[in-house]
Amino acid sequence: MSHEPRHTGGEPTRMGHEYCGYVEELGEGVASVKAGQFVVGSFAASDNTCPACRIGYQSSCVHREFISQAQSPYLRVPHADGTLVATREARDASMVPALLASSDVLGTGWYAAADAAKVEAGATAVVVGDGAVGLLATLSAKQMGAERIIVMSRNPARQKLARNFGATDIIAERGEDGVAKILEITRGFGADSVLECVGTSESMQQAMRVTRKGGHMPFVGVPHGVEIEGQPLFFSDIHLEGGPAPVRRYLPNLIDLVLSQKIDPSPVFDLVLPLEQVANGYKAMDQRRAIKALLQP
Ligand SMILES: [Zn+2]
Repeated sequence: MSHEPRHTGGEPTRMGHEYCGYVEELGEGVASVKAGQFVVGSFAASDNTCPACRIGYQSSCVHREFISQAQSPYLRVPHADGTLVATREARDASMVPALLASSDVLGTGWYAAADAAKVEAGATAVVVGDGAVGLLATLSAKQMGAERIIVMSRNPARQKLARNFGATDIIAERGEDGVAKILEITRGFGADSVLECVGTSESMQQAMRVTRKGGHMPFVGVPHGVEIEGQPLFFSDIHLEGGPAPVRRYLPNLIDLVLSQKIDPSPVFDLVLPLEQVANGYKAMDQRRAIKALLQP
C-alpha cells in the first residue's frame, strides 16, 4: 500500500503492486518461466540485464516499470524473464501468503536489514515502524543474527507479532522520550543499525539520533515531507541507504527460505478478503484495524 499514489478521483481504479500466482499465458520470447508454474515477482518489473540490474539494484532498472494493477484476477507482468521467479512446486495453498509477502514487504524488510543496515551477528538493531515492512524488517534482522532488536510500537497486537518475529525490546514512547529510551538501552551510544520503516520527518530524525557513530540507517518507508538538515547529518557519521528495495535480487533466496519453512512472514496478513472487497481492505489498513489485507481472487 505504501507505494500506491493516493487516489482522489471518483472513479474506481485498479491498484496493487504485490502478487504471486500461476502463469496462464506467455508473451512472445519469454523463456525463463513456463505456463502452469507458480511465480512470484517484484513490485518493480526489471529486465535483469542492464547495468543497474547487474549490480543488484533491479528496482532501479533502466527499463523499470512499477506494477500498479496487481489486485485483479489476471495481471500482465512486463519484462517477465527478468521479473518473475518460478517456485518449485508450490501447490500447497498454505504457502501462498508467505510467498505473496516476498513480493514486497518481506523483500523490503530484508533489504533494510541485510544490505542497507548491514545487520551483523551480535548487533543491536532498532526498528522504527510497526507496519508490515517494520515487522518483517524485525524478522529479517533476527535472521541476520542481531542479538538485540528494539522495536518501536504502541499497538499491542503489533508488539506481540514483533516479539514473535524476534524483537527483544518494545518501546512505546515516541519523539524525545523514544530517543531517550533507546539511548538508555544502548548506554548512550546508539544502535549499530536503525531501520527506518515509516518515512515521516519525525521518524527519520528519531532514527538518525539513535544510530551510533559509524552505524547504518536504512530508510525504506517512502518519505513524505521529510527534510533533513545538513549539519546534524554531517556530524552524525552514519551510513544512509534508502530507496525501492531490489526485491528481485532476494527473491530466489526468500522463496527458498519460505518453502523450506525457515521463515514465515505470513502473520503480517491479519485480514483475508475476497478480491471484490478490496476497498474494505484499504479501509481497515487506513484505520489501522489491520496490518495487511490479503485478497483472494
Ligand atoms: Zn535492468
